[in-house]
Amino acid sequence: MSDCIFCKIVEGKIPAQKVYEDEDILAFNDINPARPVHVLVIPKKHITSLATVAAEDTPVLGKMLATANGIATAQGSPDGFRVIINTGRVGNQEVPHLHLHIVGGPDPVGPMLKRI
Ligand code: 5GP
Ligand code: ZN
Repeated sequence: MSDCIFCKIVEGKIPAQKVYEDEDILAFNDINPARPVHVLVIPKKHITSLATVAAEDTPVLGKMLATANGIATAQGSPDGFRVIINTGRVGNQEVPHLHLHIVGGPDPVGPMLKRI
C-alpha cells in the first residue's frame, strides 16, 4: 500500500523507533505514547484491520500476540500490560494498517484508558 504510513515504516521510508522485528512483524514505539510503555506491533504485510483479516493471516496474528509479552518485558513492563486493537470506525481506528497496541509501564494502567 503506497500511501499507508505503517507500510512506509516497514519499508524504511518513514523513521520509527523499532523495538522488535522478524520476517513477519515489526514493533515500534508509538509516536504519541499514552503510557510509559506504548508499542505498536504490526504485520509487515498490509492488512487493513481486524475486519479484513483472511484465514491465511491467522499465523501472523498469533505471532503478534505471542510476541507481546517479550516486547513488553524488554521495554519496561515486566509485570503485565494491556493489548488493544482498535478496529474500524466504531473502534476509532486512526491508522488503516492493523496494529496491536501494547501499553504498560511500571504502574498499573488503570481499569480503562481514556484514549488509545
Ligand atoms: P489507532 O487509533 O489507529 O489504533 O492508533 C494509531 C496510533 O498510531 C496512534 O496511537 C498514533 O499515535 C500512532 N501513530 C500515528 N502515526 C504514527 C507514526 O508515523 N509513527 C508512529 N511511531 N506512531 C504513529
Ligand atoms: Zn499498510
